[in-house]
Amino acid sequence: MMVESKQAHLQLLVFTFFLLYWHPTLIRAKEAEHDEFDYKEGSKKGPEHWGELKKEWARCKDGKFQSPIGLSDDHVTNVTSSLEDLKMSYKPSNATVKNEGPYLAIEWEGDAGSIKINGTDYFFKQCHWHTPSEHSINGIRYDLELHMVHQSTDPKIRNSIAVLAFLYHIGNPNLFLSKVNKDIMSEVATKEVHLGVIDPREIKWTSFSFYRYVGSLTSPPCAEGVIWTINEKVKHVSREQVELLQEAVDDYAEMNTRPLQPLNDREIKHYGLSLSDAPSPHEGNHGPKQYRSVSAQSPKESGSINAPKPSHPEGNQSPKQSLRLFTHITVCIFAYLL
Ligand SMILES: [Zn+2]
Repeated sequence: MMVESKQAHLQLLVFTFFLLYWHPTLIRAKEAEHDEFDYKEGSKKGPEHWGELKKEWARCKDGKFQSPIGLSDDHVTNVTSSLEDLKMSYKPSNATVKNEGPYLAIEWEGDAGSIKINGTDYFFKQCHWHTPSEHSINGIRYDLELHMVHQSTDPKIRNSIAVLAFLYHIGNPNLFLSKVNKDIMSEVATKEVHLGVIDPREIKWTSFSFYRYVGSLTSPPCAEGVIWTINEKVKHVSREQVELLQEAVDDYAEMNTRPLQPLNDREIKHYGLSLSDAPSPHEGNHGPKQYRSVSAQSPKESGSINAPKPSHPEGNQSPKQSLRLFTHITVCIFAYLL
Protein backbone atom coordinates (compact mmCIF):
# COMPACT_ATOMS: atom_id res chain seq x y z
CA MET A 1 0.00 0.00 0.00
CA MET A 2 2.80 2.37 1.03
CA VAL A 3 4.73 1.46 -2.13
CA GLU A 4 1.67 2.13 -4.34
CA SER A 5 1.09 5.46 -2.64
CA LYS A 6 4.72 6.41 -3.09
CA GLN A 7 4.50 5.42 -6.79
CA ALA A 8 1.38 7.57 -7.26
CA HIS A 9 3.19 10.51 -5.66
CA LEU A 10 6.14 9.88 -7.86
CA GLN A 11 3.99 9.86 -11.03
CA LEU A 12 2.31 13.09 -9.98
CA LEU A 13 5.65 14.71 -9.31
CA VAL A 14 7.07 13.53 -12.63
CA PHE A 15 4.03 15.01 -14.36
CA THR A 16 4.32 18.29 -12.43
CA PHE A 17 8.02 18.39 -13.17
CA PHE A 18 7.29 17.84 -16.87
CA LEU A 19 4.76 20.66 -16.99
CA LEU A 20 6.84 23.15 -15.05
CA TYR A 21 10.26 22.38 -16.38
CA TRP A 22 9.84 21.31 -20.00
CA HIS A 23 7.36 23.97 -21.02
CA PRO A 24 9.71 26.88 -20.23
CA THR A 25 12.54 24.89 -21.81
CA LEU A 26 10.59 24.71 -25.05
CA ILE A 27 10.10 28.46 -24.87
CA ARG A 28 13.80 28.90 -24.24
CA ALA A 29 14.71 26.73 -27.23
CA LYS A 30 14.38 29.96 -29.24
CA GLU A 31 16.86 31.56 -26.87
CA ALA A 32 19.62 29.15 -27.90
CA GLU A 33 19.67 30.71 -31.37
CA HIS A 34 19.94 34.18 -29.89
CA ASP A 35 22.37 33.88 -27.02
CA GLU A 36 25.53 34.12 -29.11
CA PHE A 37 26.30 37.20 -27.02
CA ASP A 38 25.05 38.72 -23.79
CA TYR A 39 25.14 41.99 -21.89
CA LYS A 40 26.69 40.89 -18.60
CA GLU A 41 29.83 42.65 -17.43
CA GLY A 42 32.60 40.08 -16.94
CA SER A 43 30.79 37.40 -18.98
CA LYS A 44 32.77 35.57 -21.72
CA LYS A 45 30.06 36.64 -24.15
CA GLY A 46 29.69 40.11 -22.62
CA PRO A 47 30.13 43.46 -24.43
CA GLU A 48 33.90 43.65 -23.82
CA HIS A 49 34.33 40.34 -25.72
CA TRP A 50 31.82 40.79 -28.58
CA GLY A 51 34.61 41.70 -31.01
CA GLU A 52 36.46 38.42 -30.30
CA LEU A 53 33.47 36.08 -30.61
CA LYS A 54 33.23 36.19 -34.42
CA LYS A 55 35.41 37.53 -37.23
CA GLU A 56 32.43 39.48 -38.58
CA TRP A 57 32.01 41.18 -35.21
CA ALA A 58 35.54 42.69 -35.13
CA ARG A 59 34.13 46.23 -35.37
CA CYS A 60 32.75 45.84 -31.82
CA LYS A 61 36.41 45.85 -30.67
CA ASP A 62 38.34 47.78 -33.35
CA GLY A 63 35.71 50.32 -34.43
CA LYS A 64 36.47 53.98 -33.79
CA PHE A 65 32.92 55.24 -34.33
CA GLN A 66 30.92 53.06 -31.97
CA SER A 67 27.60 53.60 -30.19
CA PRO A 68 26.11 54.34 -27.71
CA ILE A 69 27.88 57.43 -26.39
CA GLY A 70 27.38 59.92 -23.58
CA LEU A 71 25.76 63.10 -24.91
CA SER A 72 26.70 66.22 -23.04
CA ASP A 73 25.67 69.80 -23.67
CA ASP A 74 29.26 70.80 -22.84
CA HIS A 75 30.55 68.90 -25.88
CA VAL A 76 28.22 69.79 -28.73
CA THR A 77 28.19 72.03 -31.75
CA ASN A 78 24.93 73.97 -31.60
CA VAL A 79 23.10 74.27 -34.91
CA THR A 80 19.84 76.02 -35.68
CA SER A 81 17.62 73.31 -37.15
CA SER A 82 15.91 73.53 -40.51
CA LEU A 83 13.39 71.23 -42.20
CA GLU A 84 16.15 69.66 -44.31
CA ASP A 85 17.81 68.28 -41.19
CA LEU A 86 14.99 65.84 -40.47
CA LYS A 87 11.89 65.47 -42.62
CA MET A 88 9.45 62.74 -41.57
CA SER A 89 6.78 61.19 -43.77
CA TYR A 90 5.45 58.03 -42.13
CA LYS A 91 2.44 55.96 -43.25
CA PRO A 92 0.22 53.48 -41.36
CA SER A 93 1.07 49.89 -42.32
CA ASN A 94 0.68 46.31 -41.07
CA ALA A 95 3.04 45.51 -38.22
CA THR A 96 4.22 42.43 -36.33
CA VAL A 97 5.79 42.24 -32.88
CA LYS A 98 8.54 39.66 -32.34
CA ASN A 99 11.16 38.62 -29.83
CA GLU A 100 14.44 39.17 -31.67
CA GLY A 101 16.51 37.74 -28.81
CA PRO A 102 18.38 40.81 -27.62
CA TYR A 103 15.25 42.94 -27.81
CA LEU A 104 11.54 43.07 -28.53
CA ALA A 105 10.83 44.60 -31.96
CA ILE A 106 7.89 45.80 -34.00
CA GLU A 107 8.49 45.27 -37.72
CA TRP A 108 6.44 47.02 -40.36
CA GLU A 109 5.53 45.12 -43.53
CA GLY A 110 5.43 47.07 -46.78
CA ASP A 111 5.78 50.83 -46.96
CA ALA A 112 5.61 52.52 -43.54
CA GLY A 113 7.16 55.72 -44.88
CA SER A 114 10.56 57.29 -44.48
CA ILE A 115 12.65 60.12 -43.13
CA LYS A 116 14.83 62.44 -45.19
CA ILE A 117 18.19 63.55 -43.86
CA ASN A 118 20.19 66.01 -45.97
CA GLY A 119 18.35 64.95 -49.13
CA THR A 120 18.61 61.15 -48.62
CA ASP A 121 15.53 59.00 -47.98
CA TYR A 122 15.81 56.38 -45.24
CA PHE A 123 12.91 53.91 -45.16
CA PHE A 124 11.39 52.91 -41.85
CA LYS A 125 11.84 49.20 -41.05
CA GLN A 126 11.35 48.50 -37.35
CA CYS A 127 11.50 49.82 -33.81
CA HIS A 128 12.78 48.10 -30.66
CA TRP A 129 13.53 48.88 -27.02
CA HIS A 130 16.54 48.81 -24.68
CA THR A 131 16.37 48.93 -20.87
CA PRO A 132 17.88 51.03 -19.38
CA SER A 133 18.69 53.67 -22.03
CA GLU A 134 21.81 53.12 -24.14
CA HIS A 135 22.69 56.80 -24.68
CA SER A 136 23.05 59.09 -21.71
CA ILE A 137 22.25 62.81 -21.71
CA ASN A 138 24.35 65.04 -19.45
CA GLY A 139 25.46 62.01 -17.42
CA ILE A 140 22.03 60.46 -16.92
CA ARG A 141 21.08 57.05 -18.22
CA TYR A 142 17.30 56.89 -18.35
CA ASP A 143 14.95 53.91 -17.84
CA LEU A 144 14.22 53.06 -21.47
CA GLU A 145 15.31 53.84 -25.03
CA LEU A 146 13.36 53.27 -28.23
CA HIS A 147 15.18 52.92 -31.55
CA MET A 148 13.41 53.52 -34.87
CA VAL A 149 15.59 51.89 -37.53
CA HIS A 150 15.60 53.28 -41.11
CA GLN A 151 17.58 52.13 -44.14
CA SER A 152 18.54 53.82 -47.39
CA THR A 153 18.29 51.88 -50.66
CA ASP A 154 20.84 54.16 -52.37
CA PRO A 155 24.02 52.05 -52.93
CA LYS A 156 26.15 55.22 -53.20
CA ILE A 157 25.29 56.36 -49.67
CA ARG A 158 28.11 55.86 -47.15
CA ASN A 159 25.92 55.98 -44.05
CA SER A 160 23.07 53.68 -45.06
CA ILE A 161 21.30 53.31 -41.70
CA ALA A 162 19.59 56.09 -39.74
CA VAL A 163 18.22 55.54 -36.24
CA LEU A 164 15.90 57.89 -34.37
CA ALA A 165 16.12 57.39 -30.61
CA PHE A 166 13.81 58.39 -27.77
CA LEU A 167 14.69 58.22 -24.08
CA TYR A 168 12.10 57.65 -21.35
CA HIS A 169 11.94 58.03 -17.60
CA ILE A 170 9.50 56.35 -15.24
CA GLY A 171 6.19 58.18 -14.97
CA ASN A 172 2.81 57.91 -16.67
CA PRO A 173 2.23 55.05 -19.12
CA ASN A 174 3.46 55.56 -22.67
CA LEU A 175 0.60 55.56 -25.16
CA PHE A 176 2.46 53.91 -28.03
CA LEU A 177 3.84 51.15 -25.82
CA SER A 178 0.35 50.40 -24.51
CA LYS A 179 -0.30 48.82 -27.94
CA VAL A 180 1.99 46.01 -26.87
CA ASN A 181 -0.12 44.96 -23.90
CA LYS A 182 0.07 42.07 -21.43
CA ASP A 183 -1.78 39.58 -23.68
CA ILE A 184 0.56 40.22 -26.59
CA MET A 185 3.64 39.99 -24.36
CA SER A 186 2.60 36.56 -23.08
CA GLU A 187 2.32 35.27 -26.67
CA VAL A 188 5.43 36.90 -28.10
CA ALA A 189 7.85 34.62 -26.20
CA THR A 190 6.98 31.78 -28.58
CA LYS A 191 5.74 33.37 -31.79
CA GLU A 192 5.33 36.53 -33.83
CA VAL A 193 2.14 38.42 -33.08
CA HIS A 194 0.34 40.46 -35.76
CA LEU A 195 -0.72 43.85 -34.47
CA GLY A 196 -2.76 44.96 -37.50
CA VAL A 197 -2.24 48.43 -38.96
CA ILE A 198 0.02 50.66 -36.84
CA ASP A 199 0.81 54.28 -37.64
CA PRO A 200 4.49 55.03 -36.79
CA ARG A 201 3.45 58.65 -36.15
CA GLU A 202 1.88 57.40 -32.89
CA ILE A 203 5.42 57.21 -31.48
CA LYS A 204 5.22 61.03 -31.60
CA TRP A 205 8.24 63.24 -32.10
CA THR A 206 7.65 65.77 -29.34
CA SER A 207 10.22 68.50 -29.99
CA PHE A 208 12.55 69.76 -32.64
CA SER A 209 15.62 69.68 -30.44
CA PHE A 210 17.84 66.72 -31.01
CA TYR A 211 21.43 65.46 -30.97
CA ARG A 212 23.06 63.97 -34.05
CA TYR A 213 26.30 62.09 -34.58
CA VAL A 214 27.65 59.21 -36.69
CA GLY A 215 28.09 55.92 -34.85
CA SER A 216 27.31 52.21 -35.09
CA LEU A 217 24.73 49.53 -34.37
CA THR A 218 24.77 48.95 -30.59
CA SER A 219 24.79 45.14 -30.84
CA PRO A 220 26.95 42.74 -32.93
CA PRO A 221 28.12 43.12 -35.68
CA CYS A 222 28.44 46.77 -34.46
CA ALA A 223 28.48 47.99 -38.11
CA GLU A 224 29.48 51.64 -38.43
CA GLY A 225 28.05 54.39 -40.64
CA VAL A 226 24.83 54.79 -38.66
CA ILE A 227 23.36 58.30 -38.43
CA TRP A 228 22.01 58.71 -34.89
CA THR A 229 19.36 61.32 -34.10
CA ILE A 230 18.42 61.40 -30.42
CA ASN A 231 15.37 63.40 -29.33
CA GLU A 232 16.41 65.77 -26.55
CA LYS A 233 13.05 65.70 -24.77
CA VAL A 234 12.86 62.71 -22.44
CA LYS A 235 9.43 61.08 -22.56
CA HIS A 236 7.68 58.98 -19.92
CA VAL A 237 6.83 55.29 -19.52
CA SER A 238 5.33 53.41 -16.56
CA ARG A 239 7.40 50.99 -14.48
CA GLU A 240 4.91 48.20 -15.38
CA GLN A 241 5.53 48.80 -19.09
CA VAL A 242 9.30 48.60 -18.64
CA GLU A 243 8.94 45.36 -16.63
CA LEU A 244 6.64 43.92 -19.28
CA LEU A 245 9.30 44.56 -21.93
CA GLN A 246 11.93 42.88 -19.76
CA GLU A 247 9.70 39.85 -19.19
CA ALA A 248 9.07 39.45 -22.91
CA VAL A 249 12.72 39.18 -24.01
CA ASP A 250 15.15 36.32 -23.47
CA ASP A 251 16.67 36.08 -19.98
CA TYR A 252 20.11 37.30 -21.05
CA ALA A 253 18.63 40.51 -22.49
CA GLU A 254 16.50 41.84 -19.63
CA MET A 255 19.21 44.50 -19.33
CA ASN A 256 20.08 44.94 -23.00
CA THR A 257 22.26 48.03 -22.85
CA ARG A 258 25.77 48.24 -24.29
CA PRO A 259 28.23 50.27 -22.17
CA LEU A 260 29.05 53.79 -23.40
CA GLN A 261 31.76 53.89 -26.08
CA PRO A 262 34.63 56.40 -26.51
CA LEU A 263 33.77 59.50 -28.55
CA ASN A 264 37.18 59.56 -30.32
CA ASP A 265 36.90 63.20 -31.33
CA ARG A 266 33.61 62.80 -33.11
CA GLU A 267 31.43 65.84 -33.50
CA ILE A 268 28.01 65.81 -31.85
CA LYS A 269 25.60 68.35 -33.26
CA HIS A 270 22.76 69.74 -31.21
CA TYR A 271 19.87 70.97 -33.36
CA GLY A 272 17.25 73.45 -32.26
CA LEU A 273 17.01 75.22 -28.95
CA SER A 274 15.92 73.97 -25.59
CA LEU A 275 14.97 76.34 -22.74
CA SER A 276 18.32 75.86 -21.04
CA ASP A 277 20.13 76.78 -24.27
CA ALA A 278 18.04 79.84 -25.02
CA PRO A 279 20.31 82.83 -25.51
CA SER A 280 19.99 85.82 -23.20
CA PRO A 281 18.59 88.99 -24.82
CA HIS A 282 22.18 90.24 -25.19
CA GLU A 283 23.35 87.17 -27.09
CA GLY A 284 22.76 86.69 -30.76
CA ASN A 285 21.66 83.38 -32.23
CA HIS A 286 22.88 83.57 -35.77
CA GLY A 287 23.84 80.27 -37.31
CA PRO A 288 25.94 77.48 -35.84
CA LYS A 289 27.62 78.24 -32.55
CA GLN A 290 30.87 76.45 -31.78
CA TYR A 291 31.48 75.05 -28.32
CA ARG A 292 34.65 73.36 -27.16
CA SER A 293 35.68 70.32 -29.12
CA VAL A 294 34.55 66.80 -28.28
CA SER A 295 36.93 64.99 -25.98
CA ALA A 296 37.41 61.26 -25.70
CA GLN A 297 35.70 59.57 -22.77
CA SER A 298 36.80 56.25 -21.44
CA PRO A 299 33.97 53.71 -21.63
CA LYS A 300 34.84 52.64 -18.10
CA GLU A 301 34.25 56.13 -16.73
CA SER A 302 31.16 56.80 -18.72
CA GLY A 303 29.70 53.32 -18.24
CA SER A 304 29.58 53.83 -14.51
CA ILE A 305 27.17 56.75 -14.71
CA ASN A 306 23.82 55.92 -13.14
CA ALA A 307 24.22 52.16 -12.99
CA PRO A 308 21.02 50.34 -14.03
CA LYS A 309 18.66 49.50 -11.20
CA PRO A 310 17.78 45.83 -10.67
CA SER A 311 14.66 45.06 -12.65
CA HIS A 312 13.03 43.22 -9.78
CA PRO A 313 13.74 44.49 -6.30
CA GLU A 314 14.21 41.91 -3.59
CA GLY A 315 10.98 40.52 -2.21
CA ASN A 316 9.17 41.30 -5.44
CA GLN A 317 9.91 38.30 -7.60
CA SER A 318 9.06 38.25 -11.29
CA PRO A 319 6.91 35.38 -12.66
CA LYS A 320 10.06 33.99 -14.34
CA GLN A 321 11.95 33.91 -11.02
CA SER A 322 8.98 32.36 -9.18
CA LEU A 323 8.72 29.63 -11.82
CA ARG A 324 12.43 28.87 -11.53
CA LEU A 325 12.16 28.61 -7.72
CA PHE A 326 9.10 26.37 -7.95
CA THR A 327 10.79 24.12 -10.51
CA HIS A 328 13.87 23.92 -8.30
CA ILE A 329 11.78 22.86 -5.24
CA THR A 330 9.94 20.22 -7.34
CA VAL A 331 13.22 18.77 -8.59
CA CYS A 332 14.52 18.61 -4.99
CA ILE A 333 11.41 16.71 -3.77
CA PHE A 334 11.68 14.41 -6.77
CA ALA A 335 15.34 13.66 -5.99
CA TYR A 336 14.46 13.00 -2.32
CA LEU A 337 11.70 10.51 -3.17
CA LEU A 338 13.96 8.62 -5.53
ZN1 LIG B 1 18.78 49.35 -30.62
